[in-house]
Amino acid sequence: MKVLGLETSCDETGLAIFDSEQMGSDNQGLVGQVLYSQIELHALYGGVVPELASRDHIRKLVPLLNELLEQCDVKKSELDAVAYTKGPGLIGALMTGALFGRSLAYGLDIPAIGVHHMEGHLLAPLMGANPPAFPFVSLLVSGGHTQLIAAQGIGQYEILGESIDDAAGECFDKAAKMLGLPYPGGPNIAKLAENGDPSAYELPRPMLHRGLDFSFSGMKTAVHNLIKDTAGSDSDPQVRADIAASFQHAMVDTLVKKCVKALKQVEMSRLVIAGGVSANKHLRETLERELAKINATVHYAPPALCTDNGAMIAYAGYERLQAGQADDLAVSCVPRWPMTELPAV
Ligand code: ATP
Ligand code: MG
Ligand code: FE
Repeated sequence: MKVLGLETSCDETGLAIFDSEQMGSDNQGLVGQVLYSQIELHALYGGVVPELASRDHIRKLVPLLNELLEQCDVKKSELDAVAYTKGPGLIGALMTGALFGRSLAYGLDIPAIGVHHMEGHLLAPLMGANPPAFPFVSLLVSGGHTQLIAAQGIGQYEILGESIDDAAGECFDKAAKMLGLPYPGGPNIAKLAENGDPSAYELPRPMLHRGLDFSFSGMKTAVHNLIKDTAGSDSDPQVRADIAASFQHAMVDTLVKKCVKALKQVEMSRLVIAGGVSANKHLRETLERELAKINATVHYAPPALCTDNGAMIAYAGYERLQAGQADDLAVSCVPRWPMTELPAV
């Protein structure tokens, strides 16, 4: 079954073709993918401008689909289904992909399904060669979410804890901005941190001993004060690298400790990390080391499938279509959509 996946929830237009018949092969079912990021478009304004995002998705969807079909050597008539991101996200941006995907499926007389963006992230690591079996604990760490979830199966999610303020990725982005680094901040902080000493500065680990919730706004303030005290934004490159490394270390330390706590609490031995921040090398390595100590394992997707992409939408759509789910002709996007409202598979 060949599923076209469309991701347009925010500022990236991602399209991909997933083919279940190729699941066991080298590409793990991913026939091909294309991604267009609107970063430059929004950079001028210091944040994503919703109306500009919608218009740019509209401009890019047709050329990107043609590019993808050509790259994959697949004809439109060979597609078996279309999966599009239905929420959560910016309503205008969601509508572009949803209406495009729904209309395309109607024209081709194939099923269409609306996918939850965070379920797309959550399931992306399952596309790999040795997918982790359910049940597992999932750490969703992205630009808009920081959640610990107990997953019993597809659509059977219990939220164990979440951020009460900023998301982890957002915190990386803000710390990067304070250090004068461009968006997206995560990879830029990680790069600068390579030459830094993670123990140079002691940063707070908020709410470490309080349940499974997170709070990152205090960490942001601490970075701000540290930069002010050391003139770190425009001073010594070593000081800047030390600040980046200390910040990354505090973030990773907090995330890892909560993951260990969650695994113990629900008595599970598998952790799946997903979302943009799960691409972070220091986080992956620390989790591997710390989870080995409690006989647990960590699973993640390749970096390109951690941040927003069409492949995760195609795959999540495929899993739900397999279970007999599909959407009717009505298109309704859901800008705010708790994952716990999803039906089980
Ligand atoms: P959401 O999925 O919650 O709606 P989003 O789609 O904007 O938010 P993603 O695309 O999953 O988020 O991830 C983007 C975030 O991941 C950014 O905040 C970015 O800084 C962060 N990120 C990407 N790579 C890394 C990395 N190597 N280390 C740390 N953070 C990273
Ligand atoms: Mg994005
Ligand atoms: Fe995302």
